[in-house]
Amino acid sequence: MILTVTMNPSIDMAYPVKHLEIDTVNRVANVRKTAGGKGLNVSRVIALMNRPITATGVLGGYFGQYIEHQLDLTHIAHSFTHIDQETRNSIAILHDDGDQTELLEAGPVLTAEDTAAFLKHFESLLESADIITISGSLPGGLPTDFYAQMIAIADQHHVKVLLDASGEALKAGIAADIKPLLIKPNETELAALLHTPVDKHNYPALKQHLSSPVFAGVEWIVVSLGAAGAFVKHNTDFYKVTIPKINVVNPVGSGDSTTAGLAMALEAGEDDATVMKTAMTTGMLNTMEAETGFVNPDLFDEYFAKVTVEKF
Ligand code: ATP
Repeated sequence: MILTVTMNPSIDMAYPVKHLEIDTVNRVANVRKTAGGKGLNVSRVIALMNRPITATGVLGGYFGQYIEHQLDLTHIAHSFTHIDQETRNSIAILHDDGDQTELLEAGPVLTAEDTAAFLKHFESLLESADIITISGSLPGGLPTDFYAQMIAIADQHHVKVLLDASGEALKAGIAADIKPLLIKPNETELAALLHTPVDKHNYPALKQHLSSPVFAGVEWIVVSLGAAGAFVKHNTDFYKVTIPKINVVNPVGSGDSTTAGLAMALEAGEDDATVMKTAMTTGMLNTMEAETGFVNPDLFDEYFAKVTVEKF
């Protein structure tokens, strides 16, 4: 099974408003509350594609229970470490004109005991894991190399990790001796890692960027490029992946859906082209749905057939 890790989950609340009035009451109808955090988006997509998955990470309090209840309702197996603090909420105010104002709680600060309990639990789950995805930000209290530590523990059990993080956690994850199997930086994350501007339409420059010693030892680098598809490095091979023009409803969570496709195909031992086509298809299917981290599996074959992969 695929093990997905979400260290800092949240209840994602979407508040649609016509116009946000400051310093007065704004009444909101049609509030949506979902089990959020990037790793839970990954989990939902894998479960919708009918593949075995277990979601883990850290949850606490009544909000943590709410998330577990939501996962039960959507038939997503889970095994979280419970802490003595409330899981966070994330509020997205969706303005009528398409603007979005977000209020994101930092979330709990983990104690040394919480951290030790999680790592012990994580190690016990490795027995039945074939591949792991780690997504999103680290909660407070954890060192920036925490994902690198998890990758090293997984390696001792011969389980490979797909790391979808950013900033210092990603930097530490690829700088450590034991590397993740795959990273999935977008244009912005790539620019931050290399301290250089990145033009996502300049493929020769992308090829040069991915050849940087910063990435030495990382087997797969998947740079997702939104509507332009992806540019990928696998060992010494480079690929330009092109996708069809589609009707985009909500692109939020497409990166997580791409991670879900990568994990599914890599777990199944698929060839390079199938890995990339699967990932692009789950990404595209997410953009075609209103709900974040959601895909319609009935459309998979149709869109998979429209993705092209060329060596570059
Ligand atoms: P996010 O952080 O918003 O989840 P991301 O920046 O990590 O996303 P993107 O590159 O935007 O990831 O999207 C991932 C994949 O989803 C793309 O490679 C593509 O397959 C699909 N996708 C995203 N946006 C579009 C779009 N506008 N049209 C078609 N496909 C898209």
